[in-house]
Amino acid sequence: MFETIKEQPADKILMLMQAFREDPREDKIDLGVGVYKDADGNTPIMRAIKAAEKQLWEDEQTKAYTGLAGDPGFADVMVALVLGDAVARENVAAAATPGGTGAVRQAFDMARMANPNVRVFVSDPTWPNHLSILKHMGIETVMYRYFDNESGGVNFDGMMADLAQAGKGDIVLVHGCCHNPTGANLNATEWKALIDLLNKTGATPMIDLAYQGFGDGLDADAQAVRMVASSVPECLIAASCSKNFGIYRERTGLLMAVAQDGGAKKLNQGTLNYLNRQNFSFPPDHGARLVTYVLSDDALKAEWQAELEEMRTGMLALREQLAGELQRLSGSDRFGFLAQHRGMFSRLGATPEQVETLRRDHGVYMVGDSRMNIAGLNAKTVPLLAEAIVKSGV
Ligand code: PMP
Repeated sequence: MFETIKEQPADKILMLMQAFREDPREDKIDLGVGVYKDADGNTPIMRAIKAAEKQLWEDEQTKAYTGLAGDPGFADVMVALVLGDAVARENVAAAATPGGTGAVRQAFDMARMANPNVRVFVSDPTWPNHLSILKHMGIETVMYRYFDNESGGVNFDGMMADLAQAGKGDIVLVHGCCHNPTGANLNATEWKALIDLLNKTGATPMIDLAYQGFGDGLDADAQAVRMVASSVPECLIAASCSKNFGIYRERTGLLMAVAQDGGAKKLNQGTLNYLNRQNFSFPPDHGARLVTYVLSDDALKAEWQAELEEMRTGMLALREQLAGELQRLSGSDRFGFLAQHRGMFSRLGATPEQVETLRRDHGVYMVGDSRMNIAGLNAKTVPLLAEAIVKSGV
């Protein structure tokens, strides 16, 4: 029977990683896959996580199942990290999931349970996994305008015009900070206008928060999520711990369903538990417990915040350096947006041909839509990249 299944398209980023590995050039630059890298190209285990792991090894007495929603302590510390005191805890139902991807998947599932004909509005472009999961689930997807290739910023008027078409029973998926793949984000005034529009149309926001702490800081990056969650009747939030705790392979995420009507929590919690049960039963615990250790201990938390801050400011410095080099070499300000973008990614705005030239002639590997992982750079490779970009005619 298996022969009846159609072959699935290969993952473009994984293909790019393979091509990079096979490239013999010494000065090749990998700006492809979305993991944080330090100046030496390593993805280190964060110091506080390593310490928490040691402590956990000492403390842990059983590997028996946790609850269906995971350890309640994990939900508590994560709700606090993401929402602060913007929403009362009793208005938030939450369940641990395998990574942020698991939370995204469960959120779509919950939306479809609420409305079998749900449409999900996604930014053009968005993280490709949003699109492929929605396609796999057979959920109707509507793209809204987002990135303005000319300015490197957000086409906010286009976005608002398109989102005026979403209504009650629809989901509007937004990235809470550090938009992937573009790096372009809304400002506070624009978030406020978006919230007003959502309240007017009755569409339900779903916020994907995968990079809290990678943009302007832990609280600043949660500002939009907090504003949305405290201003609309209901929302879904899919948070990932992969990047900001550096625990990619532990698969650690949390799905939150927020309702201003506190009475809805019991129903929402039951739905989240049910969805975990149907899809994988108990969620992974190891990563969640490490996060709980780190966020519950003042010293570990301070250590974690300090290291996250080093990562964040390091990426910002690379952005400044790259924008500066490009200004010097091109004699124009047209790459200034790279310093304005936030998070790990920036969309350069190169054509597929230019992306190919960068790879073939300069050993620079970026995703086909010209998404660059800024963390793939260091102070020495930035000038090489800038030169390659200008020579490739971008
Ligand atoms: N959402 C976005 C926008 C992402 O970029 C990612 C990570 N690539 C995720 C969700 C989820 O990542 P993970 O499942 O590894 O936590």
